[in-house]
Amino acid sequence: MSFKQMVRTRFAPSPTGFLHIGGARTALFSWAYARKHHGKFILRIEDTDIARSTPEAVQAILDGMAWLGLKEDEGPFYQMQRIYRYKEVIQQMLDAGSAYYCYISPEELEQMRAAQMEAGLKPRYDGTWRPEPGKELPTPPSGVQPVVRFRNPKVGDVAWDDQVKGRIVISNTELDDFIIARADGTPTYNFCVVVDDWDMGITHVIRGDDHVNNTPRQINLLHALGATVPQYAHLSMILGDDGQKLSKRHGAVSVMQYHEEGYLPEAVLNYLARLGWSHGDDEVFSMAQFCEWFDLDHITPSAAQFNTEKLRWLNAHYIKQADLGTLAADVKQRLNAMAIAVTSEQPALEDVIALYRERVHTLVELAESVAYFYRKPLIDEAAKEKHLTPDILPVLNALAAALADTEWSAEAIHAAIDHAVQSNGLKFPKVAMPLRVLITGGAQSPSIDAVMALLGKTEVLTRIGEGL
Ligand code: GLU
Repeated sequence: MSFKQMVRTRFAPSPTGFLHIGGARTALFSWAYARKHHGKFILRIEDTDIARSTPEAVQAILDGMAWLGLKEDEGPFYQMQRIYRYKEVIQQMLDAGSAYYCYISPEELEQMRAAQMEAGLKPRYDGTWRPEPGKELPTPPSGVQPVVRFRNPKVGDVAWDDQVKGRIVISNTELDDFIIARADGTPTYNFCVVVDDWDMGITHVIRGDDHVNNTPRQINLLHALGATVPQYAHLSMILGDDGQKLSKRHGAVSVMQYHEEGYLPEAVLNYLARLGWSHGDDEVFSMAQFCEWFDLDHITPSAAQFNTEKLRWLNAHYIKQADLGTLAADVKQRLNAMAIAVTSEQPALEDVIALYRERVHTLVELAESVAYFYRKPLIDEAAKEKHLTPDILPVLNALAAALADTEWSAEAIHAAIDHAVQSNGLKFPKVAMPLRVLITGGAQSPSIDAVMALLGKTEVLTRIGEGL
């Protein structure tokens, strides 16, 4: 029997903005990978950039994760609460000689870089303060707070088998002795990530490929600490509908904006799952299914392109399947936000939604489509002019009188309209269309008898009466 290490993944956002589509996909893949392997998914807030991190952004990330239902098994951990630990490890590295104090001033560093560039060399720290066997170090200048640098190996390569991109090999000569603690003692980004991945026992780092350049540095640090190096999977970027880098206009917005725009979390999750990962031709699947299928082998190394039409299509699918009570609660809030109250005397939202949900792509469309049940319809004047022609007015008047005595069911209403149609030698739409305009405000609605049955006799007769 072989011992299999438990999978531990993490999502480690920096709270400098919203949880956007790219971040949400990273979170989803990390979460799903842990689910698939019965492991743990850890949420870690990388808030050490105090100039850019805000509590609002932390909250926005937590809200986005909660809306998507990506629940962490451990955390959220905050890096700012772990500073003591980073300092401890820095001291250990200083003691062990894998890190050293560097007293070079920012001005000197700048001059060094300028000179290297002029000589056609790659700008890098020249190792003045790097301890070497037999090397005599300069005397530390007084009054200068040193930074701490990592003693990166000078020779050899650093390599890993990226689970998405394949084998990546970087020569250590490409990497310099980067700073792990600033002059004020605060640890730097790459260092905190490494200590956390190590302490938190992360086995699989799934993240955006904007971090691929950090990985060789992080691996060298892990080696220096004697830590196990996790597997890395760098996800390719997501392009907008237009093939351009995601911008505020398309997708670089908060996932909560998709909520505002009337998308269901199920649709967004299903959509994100297919953004760079595939399982044959399967397009529509539940999260339970996804967690069963998900693997790192079927993540494409090429950029994924956002497709709003597909997201809308999936959303329409999930709206058709959703629990009516859940939809009603959501639509009620949207109507209230439009200053439309929904009272118990009015048609039940569940019934109205059942009539409309096949026809919409978003919950915003759903709320707008059903609004006329709860307030006077906004009459489309062009439709009114087209369908409410003078010749039909007497027919509608007679129909209204007949409806007043009709039992209020869709069938009976249909029969009454049919009678008006037959007895005047007309075609059904000739009567149904003007009725639709008067009752719903426009020329498009589900079957008009069903609408009228739901709206109720009094309201229907009022709307016809007021419109004629
Ligand atoms: N905090 C980093 C970010 O938000 C992610 C770090 C990582 O996943 O290693 O881009």
